[in-house]
Amino acid sequence: MVDGEGRRPRSGDSARRSHRLFAGWLIDGTGAPAKKNALIGVEGGLISSVEFPSPEELSRLERDDSLFYESYPSCTILPGLIDCHVHLSMSGKIDRNLRVRQLGNGFEQSGPLIWKRLERCLSLGIMAVRDGGDVGGHALRFVRENGYGQVRIKCAGKGWRAPGRYGKIIGRAPVNGSTLAESIQADCAPVDHVKILNSGINSLEEFGRETAPQFDREELEAAFREARNRGRKIMVHANGRRPVECGVAAGCDSIEHGFFMGEENLKRMADRQIFWVPTACTMKALGASLPAGSTQRTTASRMLESQLEQMSRARELGVSVASGTDAGSFGVRHGLALVEELKLLTAAGFSIEETLRCATSSGAALLGLESELGRIRPGMEASFLVAPGPPAHLPGSLSNPHAVYRRGVKISGLQ
Ligand SMILES: [Zn+2]
Repeated sequence: MVDGEGRRPRSGDSARRSHRLFAGWLIDGTGAPAKKNALIGVEGGLISSVEFPSPEELSRLERDDSLFYESYPSCTILPGLIDCHVHLSMSGKIDRNLRVRQLGNGFEQSGPLIWKRLERCLSLGIMAVRDGGDVGGHALRFVRENGYGQVRIKCAGKGWRAPGRYGKIIGRAPVNGSTLAESIQADCAPVDHVKILNSGINSLEEFGRETAPQFDREELEAAFREARNRGRKIMVHANGRRPVECGVAAGCDSIEHGFFMGEENLKRMADRQIFWVPTACTMKALGASLPAGSTQRTTASRMLESQLEQMSRARELGVSVASGTDAGSFGVRHGLALVEELKLLTAAGFSIEETLRCATSSGAALLGLESELGRIRPGMEASFLVAPGPPAHLPGSLSNPHAVYRRGVKISGLQ
């Protein structure tokens, strides 16, 4: 194929203001069934058209040397992915000494590591992440001081926990007798989301042990009012029935993790259109790191199973699920963990289109990026990835994308 000036397409031509891409299949991010033979127009970094030419039109286009386009006839094109729960300042490695050491890292050490993790995300077509906080506030500082134009980052800064409760590595407690609401009001950090820890973490000794809510419904309602007055969304870390119920009743935007939350909470979330970010891959990664035959490993795999059952029920009830990985936690590596999470969604009964909706348009809506990312349709950013093979090869094929485009420019290609 030759472009309008008679040159063969070459690397970098995709930076042209206007070009077209052809793919054997398209998944648009809405959950609609995959379609065959998609021709996508790109102009000025945005999608200008999406067409599905007939075989006759297609062979005419192929013969027309005046058109420039890049062709991926054996690949599937889909919107860039979004990971709705990461901790950029933390490594997902399982070396316990390293994990302890990194908590003492200053910003000078964290900054270059954050950069590397974002590069890894981008190479897999992850175009946006939401950072769930770190006690040093390094991810937020990184965004303010360095920025990283290729991957959009939404930050929670430092999270909030109750005095004496779980969450020291990602948050702080209100001080000097202040309430949570007063603390949020007084905090001038320019965060996008307020992160509130409202339970402990899952016990590996006792399957399903529930911890008490860190804050009650009234405290949360007052805190959420302050957060919303400042234009912020609210993400609530909660496992177990009561901790989730308090967050949902007070009207959060998303429940993070939500292990053991139960059917009633899922119904409430469906009614109120509250997002759920299940982070099921954390249990898979944790289980894999524990000694075979140990009680802890059995408990981790039971927790994974019970989370998959909840995900399946959430799908039936119409809960908006957005995919997030908790990358940076034990064994959960930045980038590839999202492919693992998507495999678990399909294992829970989501079709491949529904699975990808969780990682595209639903994620974009939760992050407030729905007018830019998450769908392939005219007017959206031309930010997408090209996965090798037909839709049946997804989500596994996402671990080795054929090409990634950011605002119309091919930023990596493995051809
Ligand atoms: Zn987290």
